Amino acid sequence: MTLPSAADAPTPWALVVHGGAGVITRDDLSPAQEEAYRAAMAAAAEAGAAVLRAAGAAIDAVEAAVRVLEDNPLFNAGRGAVFTAEGRIEMDAAIMDGATLNAGAVGGVTTPRHPISLARAVMDRSPHVMLAGQGAEAFAAAAGVEMAPPGWLATRRRWRALEAWLSKRGEALPQKPAGLDEAADPAAGLAHDEGKRGTVGAVACDARGHVAAATSTGGVTGKRWNRVGDSPIIGAGTYADDRACAVSCTGAGEYFIRLTVARTVAALVELQGLTLQQALDRVLKDDLTALGGDGGAIAVTPSGEMGWSFNTEGMYRARLSAGRPLELGLYGDDA
Ligand code: ASP
Repeated sequence: MTLPSAADAPTPWALVVHGGAGVITRDDLSPAQEEAYRAAMAAAAEAGAAVLRAAGAAIDAVEAAVRVLEDNPLFNAGRGAVFTAEGRIEMDAAIMDGATLNAGAVGGVTTPRHPISLARAVMDRSPHVMLAGQGAEAFAAAAGVEMAPPGWLATRRRWRALEAWLSKRGEALPQKPAGLDEAADPAAGLAHDEGKRGTVGAVACDARGHVAAATSTGGVTGKRWNRVGDSPIIGAGTYADDRACAVSCTGAGEYFIRLTVARTVAALVELQGLTLQQALDRVLKDDLTALGGDGGAIAVTPSGEMGWSFNTEGMYRARLSAGRPLELGLYGDDA
């Protein structure tokens, strides 16, 4: 790792991205798959870093990074989101600004190309923090948020995953979604099944020392009853506070909600004086494991300290800060 140069030192921006945690081992991924995930994480980190290098705000950087991952069918967010038991795509997303504690979130949305930008619109252009279902769709239309072209979100790979999920339970397959392209898989054999997961997220600290967090997901394959996970719940899967840090999570949402993982990491930093890494490891490796859940989180402080922690075999992740080279990790023993 190279040390920051004198020219870079006064600009302590930092950004961390994740693309989900799960069964990600060297034995599981072919060289081509590994390369595809590394390139995807690098592209997302670069999109966020471009905003920060141009003296942009952390909140804009995390939105930019997540939008790149939402468009990439390798991940369970936006294009490539998993299917519900009824054969629908219902996406959750949240964004939070640590400078103001403003936040926006959406649950169970089916039409936006970029759920993270709909969450941003909720934050910026509504008096609310969280909108769900049809109301969120109506708000998206009124706010002029970009809709996904027909068939854009649905992928053959995720449909196959639903088929397998339903057949294991002896349940009938619902009607195929309109526009699902059975002939072509946009992930072109490069996708790895890390275990139903693949949520994406980003955290950033800008040159003014403000932090922000963003998370976007399709949830879990076979979810029912308008199940909503941790990702859009402020304090569970997503949190940002300039007094502590910004956090974005991925993993079994039902556990992250009960542990309020993102807010607990921030509280340990702010109120207990733990280092960022200590706080992450306490919650992700100790508390989450003890409760029986799995997953991971990324975080950054207003001074640009970056961290990640997970109790799964691996997590797609990357970090980048002023004057330091990009660091990429997939497996548990990567740096
Ligand atoms: N946390 C997400 C959820 O429970 C899923 C994931 O991160 O893989 O909806």
